[in-house]
Amino acid sequence: MKRALQHARVAILSVGDELVLAQIEDTNAPFLARRLLEIGAMPGERRTVGDDQHAIAHAMLDLARTHVAVIVTGGLGPTLDDLTREALAEAIAIASGDSTERALLVEDPAGIAHLKMWFEDMGRVMPLINRKQALRPHASRLLANPLGTAPGVATLASAPISVYCLPGPPREMQPMFDAEVAPHLASTTHLIATRALHTVGRGESALAELLGDLMDRTRTPSVGTTARGGIVSIRIRAEGSAASARAALDATTAVCRERVGSLIFGFDDETLASSVGAMLLAQSRTLATAESCTGGLVSALLTDIAGSSAWYLGGFVVYANARKIEDVGVPSEMIARYGAVSHETAIALARGALHRMGSDYAISTTGIAGPSGGTPEKPVGCVFIAIADRCSQQVFSRRFLFVGARQAIRERAAVMALASLRAALLSDPCQSLLWAESELVRVEAI
Ligand code: ATP
Repeated sequence: MKRALQHARVAILSVGDELVLAQIEDTNAPFLARRLLEIGAMPGERRTVGDDQHAIAHAMLDLARTHVAVIVTGGLGPTLDDLTREALAEAIAIASGDSTERALLVEDPAGIAHLKMWFEDMGRVMPLINRKQALRPHASRLLANPLGTAPGVATLASAPISVYCLPGPPREMQPMFDAEVAPHLASTTHLIATRALHTVGRGESALAELLGDLMDRTRTPSVGTTARGGIVSIRIRAEGSAASARAALDATTAVCRERVGSLIFGFDDETLASSVGAMLLAQSRTLATAESCTGGLVSALLTDIAGSSAWYLGGFVVYANARKIEDVGVPSEMIARYGAVSHETAIALARGALHRMGSDYAISTTGIAGPSGGTPEKPVGCVFIAIADRCSQQVFSRRFLFVGARQAIRERAAVMALASLRAALLSDPCQSLLWAESELVRVEAI
């Protein structure tokens, strides 16, 4: 299928040494990318440069050549390291073939009035240093900033490049983008609609095989995958008029569902925990937990969901053996004989949590998160996860082998604990799951 629309892209340029040095996280660029999509404009390249006038100017020029517009954030403050205005003047001068390369800045009277008013409202006289913030290149205009001193700057339509410069602080940048930039870039006819279908159970390559030609790079709507901590998300993107983009999105969603089936647990903002919570609620069932190696991570994922008390009763964090024995009733001989990390202990933990909490389901985890403590039979990353199900009167235990460092192992185990519960709720408790050593499922009566 041929790509129907090559839509014009908008570049995002983040300015600041603190961003280049990773001293602060760049939240402006992701915000802008999301907003651009929402208004039907396609985000293009994202770049970060330090507080260096020529580097900023050259990045502006470079991006302006390949994009319909460039949005710059940061560097509009009053200090010597705030150089975005000067860089914009330099970029306009170069783009318009000004051989002097000395672009002039003019003082904007409206900018001075804004600054004076800002300081007057705070009962102060405007410091001289702030006068700089009313400067702008010739072929530009200021953008109002009701929340700070720095006005934004945007090139005029007559300028050789199209650049919008916004302040760095997100609380000033975001409303300025919405009020001053979005109306110019928003498409009234063109929409970019996206949808994420979240799956659990298979790895990214296995999912790609199921999706097959849907992932062809030239297909529209486009279909891609991203993986994070055991969850693989299918991302669909459609472009066109509102009606056609939505219809195309729905049609591709339907094909994905046909190919991937029950691996899909939710859309967009839904999480695995919210999805199992909704299933428990729909079936009027309750849940309890007994966690060893995950130390409460499963419980944290469940209680992240507002209203989870309707289906999650609570849990035990039973890290030391004494707690497994006393709090949940695991027989001490069992631990002595099979070890704390075993099918037997996992099953006894789930069974004990179910009985002590009086729930319909119980999840248990016990494993070796590392970095030490592994053996050839039970290496670091070996985790047993059991689900007790009062309705079927059975307990299912499965052995997993997670890779990664301690925290990754713990987080992946927590996600797979929820995936194991989901499989039980779907009446398919032995469903194949990522990282599971599937031949090692054990089923016992409650
Ligand atoms: P100011 O007038 O506050 O100096 P400015 O436009 O000069 O505004 P910067 O000096 O570059 O902005 O950044 C000011 C602050 O804004 C930074 O210290 C940081 O806290 C925040 N900030 C800047 N850029 C970003 C970004 N890309 N993402 C998140 N926060 C940012």
